[in-house]
Amino acid sequence: MSPRARGAAALAVALLTITLAPPPAQAAPIELSTTEHALIRFRLPDEAALQRLVAEGADIAARPKTSADGAVLADLVVDEAELTALTRSGATAIQVIQRESDGARRLAQSKARLAQVQSDTLQFLQAYWWTTNGRTFLQTQVATTATDDPDVEITVTWRTADGATGTYPLIRFEDSGEYQYHYALPQLLPSKPTQVTATSSLGGQSRAITPAVWPNAAPPPTPSGYQKDFVGAYMTPTDISARIKRLKRQYPKLVDVIDLPNKTQGYRRTAVAYLGDPNAAAVVVESVKFGDQGMNGVQVKTVDPGRANRPLSASYRDRVLTLSLATDAGGKVISTTDDVAAFISAKYPQRFRAVVEDGSAGLPMPIAGPVTLDDGLMGTEVSKKPWTVQALRIGKARDGSKVGVLAYSQEHAREWATPLVTLEFAERMLANYNTDPATKALVDAVDIFVIPTVNPDGANYSFNDFNFQRKNLSNHCTGASRDPRYRNSWGVDVNRNYTVGSYFDGYVGGSPNCLSGTYAGAGELSEAESRNVIDLAAAHPNIKFAMNVHSYGGYFMWPPGSYKADGRVTLPRPSIDESKFFLDSARRIVGAIAASRGTVTWPSYTGPVADVLYSAAGNSADQLYYELGIDAWDFEVGNDIWNDQSQEWEGVGFQPPFDEAHAESQEYAGGLVELVRVASEVSPM
Ligand SMILES: [Zn+2]
Repeated sequence: MSPRARGAAALAVALLTITLAPPPAQAAPIELSTTEHALIRFRLPDEAALQRLVAEGADIAARPKTSADGAVLADLVVDEAELTALTRSGATAIQVIQRESDGARRLAQSKARLAQVQSDTLQFLQAYWWTTNGRTFLQTQVATTATDDPDVEITVTWRTADGATGTYPLIRFEDSGEYQYHYALPQLLPSKPTQVTATSSLGGQSRAITPAVWPNAAPPPTPSGYQKDFVGAYMTPTDISARIKRLKRQYPKLVDVIDLPNKTQGYRRTAVAYLGDPNAAAVVVESVKFGDQGMNGVQVKTVDPGRANRPLSASYRDRVLTLSLATDAGGKVISTTDDVAAFISAKYPQRFRAVVEDGSAGLPMPIAGPVTLDDGLMGTEVSKKPWTVQALRIGKARDGSKVGVLAYSQEHAREWATPLVTLEFAERMLANYNTDPATKALVDAVDIFVIPTVNPDGANYSFNDFNFQRKNLSNHCTGASRDPRYRNSWGVDVNRNYTVGSYFDGYVGGSPNCLSGTYAGAGELSEAESRNVIDLAAAHPNIKFAMNVHSYGGYFMWPPGSYKADGRVTLPRPSIDESKFFLDSARRIVGAIAASRGTVTWPSYTGPVADVLYSAAGNSADQLYYELGIDAWDFEVGNDIWNDQSQEWEGVGFQPPFDEAHAESQEYAGGLVELVRVASEVSPM
C-alpha cells in the first residue's frame, strides 16, 4: 500500500468512527440498594470538597484528577448512605466502576473463559531439512507448554514452494521422567519445505517457521589423486597391532607409536567347571589363576570314602583335585554342596575357589567327576598375554608444540567398525602428506593421537566367543554370579569407569551390577583400559580436542554426558559460547561425513549426550572435558539408512555386512579430518 492510499484508508476509518459514535445520552441517575457498596467515580465541585473527604477518611481508590473547569474527579468506594450524602453535598456520581456483587461473578467469568480458551503454546526447537541421495527429509522438534499432560498430541504441517502440503504426528519424548519435547524421525518430503507449523490437541498453534537447511556446511574438496580406502576387512586387535607397526615403518618421520602404560588383563579367563549336574546339584569350581597359567585341564572329582564317620577331606595331586566326602555312622555320604564349596575355598585359597551353583544350595553333594577346568575361550590363535594398548602419534612436530587431537575407538568391544574409522583416518593423514598440500598443512600444524582399540581383550572375545561382548574381560563378580553360565555378561563397561559424573558420584547410566551391560567397575578407573585413555591425555596437555568413536546409530555428541536422577541435574552445561562452538564445529564435521555417501547425521542426534541419547555416568568424554579441559566429542557411527521400499529408517547394527562398515569408515574418517581442520583453525598454539 502506498503512503497516499494508507492516508486515505485512515481517513475512511476516522469518518466511519465518527459516523458510528452514539449520540451523547442523558445518563440515568446512579443508585445503590441498601447496604450495597460500589466503586463510583464522582465529579466533586471543587478541590475543597475533596479535601473534606480526605479529612473524613473517605476510601479514595484512585488518584483524584482535576478537570479543566476546576471540578475534581475522584473514585470512591461508598455505600448507599455515603452516596446520598455525597450527592447532597454537591458531588455528582458519574460512573459505577464496579459493584460489590461484581467480584464473585467476575472471578467465575474469568475462570470460565480460561477453561474455554485453555490452549498450550507451541515452539519449534528445531526445524531442519536436507537432501540425501535425491531424497528430501524434514525433521522437527516442538515443545509444548503443557509439559505435564501426557495426552497432548502435536501435529506438524509442512508446505513446499510449489504448494504441496502434508502433516505428520510427533511423539512425546520424556527422559528420566521429565518432559523434553515432541519429535519425529525425519520425514520424506517431495521437495524442500518452505514452511512448517505445529498444532496441538489442546488448540495450541505455533508460529509458522521456515525450516533451515542442515548441516549447511561442506568440507573443501579433496584433490584428484587423494588417497583413501585403507581398510579391506574387519580388523582384530592382532590385525590392528600389525597395522600400527606397518604405519610406523612406512612413515617413520611422521609417526610415533606410544605404548600406553597400563597393560590389560589379556584375553584370558580363569578355568572353571561344574562339579555335579547344574540342573540337579553342583558346585562351581574355579581356578584362582587364569586358565592359561597352568590351570586349564586340571581335574576335580568327588569320591565316596567307602567308610563310616569320615570327615570331608581333599587332596591335590597330579593336577587332580579329589574331594572325599563326609560320611555318617552308617557310611552314608552327608556332605552338602555348601560344605564342599566352602571347604575348597578355605583349603586352597591360592589355587581354587568354589561357589554353590545357583539353585543348588543345601543339597546333598553328588559323587561326580572327574570334570576338567577350562577357561572356555575359543580364540585359539589369540595371544593370552596381557595386552599393550597402543596409540599412534602423527604429526610433523610431535613435541607438544602443536595443538593435539585425540581420536580413540572401540571402548566397546563389539563396535567392530570403529577402529576402521580411526585407522582409515590415520592413514589418510599419512598417505596424502606428500601429495596433498591441505593434508600436509594439517599434519604440520596438529599433533594427532589415535588409539584404534581401547579394549582389545573385549574385542578378542567379541571376535572369537560372543559377538555382542561390549565390556572388557575383567570379572569383578563374586559368589553365584561367577557361575560360567554368566560368562557373556562379565566385564566392566570401560565407558562407565571414568571419574567425572560417575555412578559412584550418583549419576545415572552406570550400574553396580557386575552382570549389567553398563557395569561401572569395582571403582572409578579400576580398569587398565580407562586409565590408558586418561593417562595419554594427561601426559600430553597440548591435546585440546578429542573424539570418542562408538557405534551405532548416527549420533554426534558432546558434554554433558550424564545427569543425576533426582531432578535430572546434568553436569554443568558448556557456556553459550562453547555450546555455539560445539554446534558450529559439529555442523562442519557432519557436512564432511555427508560428503562421502550422503549420510546426514540428524539434527536431533546432534547435541549434548544427555539430551540426544541418554545419561552415561562416568564416560570418558566427560572426564576429558571437565577434568582436562579438552573439547571432547562422541561419534556413534553407523547412521540409520532410509529404505525406499518400506519407507522406514533401518538400523545397521554393531557388525554390519562389511560393505556397510567400510562405508562408515570412509565417511567418518572424513569427519575426523574435518575435526583436525577445526583444531588447526581455532586453537593455534
Ligand atoms: Zn559404544
